Amino acid sequence: MANEFPQTLTIAGTDSGGGAGVMADLKTMQERNVFGTAVVVAVTAQNTLGVQDFMALPQKLVDEQFASLAADLKIRACKTGMLADAEHVHGVVENLKRYDFGPLTVDPVMIAKGGAALLADDAVATVRDELVPLADVLTPNLPEAERLTGVKISDEKGMEAAAVVLQDLGAKNVIIKGGHETTPQQARDFVLLEDGRSFWLTAPRIDTVRTHGTGDTLSSCITAELAKGQDFETAIRIGKDYVTAAIANPIAVGNGHGPLNHWA
Ligand code: PLP
Repeated sequence: MANEFPQTLTIAGTDSGGGAGVMADLKTMQERNVFGTAVVVAVTAQNTLGVQDFMALPQKLVDEQFASLAADLKIRACKTGMLADAEHVHGVVENLKRYDFGPLTVDPVMIAKGGAALLADDAVATVRDELVPLADVLTPNLPEAERLTGVKISDEKGMEAAAVVLQDLGAKNVIIKGGHETTPQQARDFVLLEDGRSFWLTAPRIDTVRTHGTGDTLSSCITAELAKGQDFETAIRIGKDYVTAAIANPIAVGNGHGPLNHWA
C-alpha cells in the first residue's frame, strides 16, 4: 500500500517519569506527525531526580515484540536507545538483521545525566562490534564517542577524528553531540555524512537543568523525518532544530533534571 501512514519504531527502555527513553521517543514521534511504536527492552523506575532502579525484560519477550510488529505493521524507520546489557544488544541486533524496519538510528545510550549506568560496561564492545555497523545514523555524545572509539576528545579536532573512527567501524552517518563540552558558549555538534561531507551544527548554549531526554528526542526526531522520506542531512538538521527549541522553552515538571517541551 503506497499511501500508508509513516510508521516508526523505538527499541529502548522506558522512563516512568515520562521525560526520556520510550516515553520521550513516542512523544517526539507524535509531534513530528508519524505513528510511533515501541519494543521495550528495559523498564526503569525513574523521575527527574534520577534512575532509582531498572530491569531488562526477558529476551524472549523482546523477540516477541519484534515479531508482533513485523507480522502487521510497515515500519519505515527505527531507532535504538537504552539496551541494558550485552545479551540484549546482541538480541536486538539479531532482530534488526531478521526484519526490515528501514533506516536505523542508533543512540548508543550508556550513562544517564544523573550518573546511572543504562548499559553494562562489558556491553560497550558489543555495541561497537555488532550494533554500530548496522547504524544508518549514529548519535553519540562526547563520552559515548570516546568509549566507542578510544579517542580522547578535548577539542574540535578530537570530535572530527572520533567521527572518522566511528565511520570506519561501520556507521554510515555520524553526529557527535557536543552538549557535554564545558567551555564554549555554543552547543556544537559535528556531523560526518556517508559521502564524506561534514559540517558543524551550532546553537546557543542554553543554561538550564531541564535537558532530560535530549538524546532520545534528537534520535527519535531524526527517525521520524527519515520515515517521512527526508534525506539524512535534512533529518539531522531538523532534529537539531527541534531539540534546540524544546530546550529553549522549558516546562516546569519535577524537582530535578526536568523534561523537554515537546510542543515548543
Ligand atoms: N532513561 C532512559 C530509559 C533513557 O533511554 C535515557 C537516555 O537515553 C535516559 C534515561 C537518560 O536521559 P538523560 O541522560 O537525558 O537524563
